[in-house]
Amino acid sequence: MNAERITEKLNILADAAKYDVSCSSSGSKRKNDNKGLGNASNGICHSYTEDGRCVSLLKILLTNHCIFDCAYCVSRKNNDIQRAAFTVQEVVDLTINFYRRNYIEGLFLSSGIFKDADFTMARLVRVAKKLRTEHKFNGYIHLKSIPGASDELMREAGLYADRLSVNLEMPTEAGLKLLAPDKNRQDMIDPMRFLKNEIILRKEEKKLFKKAPMFAPAGQSTQVIIGATPETDQQVLQSANHFYKNFNLKRVYYSGYVPVLADKRLPALNTTVPMVRENRLYQADWLMRFYGFHVNEIVNDGQPLLDLDIDPKLSWAIRNMQAFPIDINKADLQVILRVPGIGVMSAQKIVSARKHGKLNWDQLKKIGISVNRARYFIICNSNEFERRDLTGNNIKQFILAESQSKYLKNKPNQLNLF
Ligand code: SF4
Repeated sequence: MNAERITEKLNILADAAKYDVSCSSSGSKRKNDNKGLGNASNGICHSYTEDGRCVSLLKILLTNHCIFDCAYCVSRKNNDIQRAAFTVQEVVDLTINFYRRNYIEGLFLSSGIFKDADFTMARLVRVAKKLRTEHKFNGYIHLKSIPGASDELMREAGLYADRLSVNLEMPTEAGLKLLAPDKNRQDMIDPMRFLKNEIILRKEEKKLFKKAPMFAPAGQSTQVIIGATPETDQQVLQSANHFYKNFNLKRVYYSGYVPVLADKRLPALNTTVPMVRENRLYQADWLMRFYGFHVNEIVNDGQPLLDLDIDPKLSWAIRNMQAFPIDINKADLQVILRVPGIGVMSAQKIVSARKHGKLNWDQLKKIGISVNRARYFIICNSNEFERRDLTGNNIKQFILAESQSKYLKNKPNQLNLF
């Protein structure tokens, strides 16, 4: 291996891969019981760069050559950039070398499209197959599925990868047509449907035959780019909800568009999507998946955009003041989950702790709820902090003022010098 050339390729292909944010590795258990290399388990690979992107996997493209010309992508055919391509063996060697040196705990491999979907997908699958079969690699592998790849290749990919993902790219079909006219939404939906059915089938098989091979044990995910097209948060979250429900996705990743290319179909180069919009979408996504919220309760025709000032649960609560205050000592778990400042774990702790007696503020604080928020929405076994006759808007202003003063209190001393 020519080390200099490999380093050069690595610089190009790791840089090109950074725009894909769908690289969390949770949800896979691949035990090292064949004395092989590595051990993927729940909770590994969760380190993030300052801008929130996960970095503990070797995250690269097989190539940044591409036959397509998606307007939002640095690797697009008509972009004048340095191109490179790894061979299958080079990716295998890099993964093993980095793994042995403890630099990484797994591989996240995506690719531009070389010649056609199958030609490219076959190479991605060969990387995973070699790692698993020749090197007995048990680390985490996330493969991007190339839209339009055949069922046979998807089936093979699932035998070696922990997670597979097909990027939807744009939240709506219209957005995709505008910015990626070479792509066809159906080419993304077909492999997703295939994976969903195959994952279900293989799980059933595994129940009957313990030795049946694992198939994409960490499931499938997707990524949508936010802010490259004018879709509202309502459209983004409705689309996510549709794919969660119909394709059993583990995660939808929301990636704020990074303007790197000038194109009249795209936002101007100096306009970036605020990071807070990404955060609010993730919070809304959690409300749908873990807190029992329906997408229309979070965003709807009257409120198509998430409030960037406050989180979506607080936003829902102040629009629905008639639902509060709730008695924390009597309410059902599902109702407690809707209280701002109370997370899933705290809600469960409340339900089990109140079996031993009525809870007051001190006990609720010990359980870990955020009293600053929750106090406007609940009553408990003490009288302080009652909401009295505050309106939703009053509450929003109080909470914003409080977080602002907290920020000022914690501001670094350095700033006081100027
Ligand atoms: S197909 Fe993928 S790599 Fe190629 S231009 Fe489109 S987004 Fe970029």
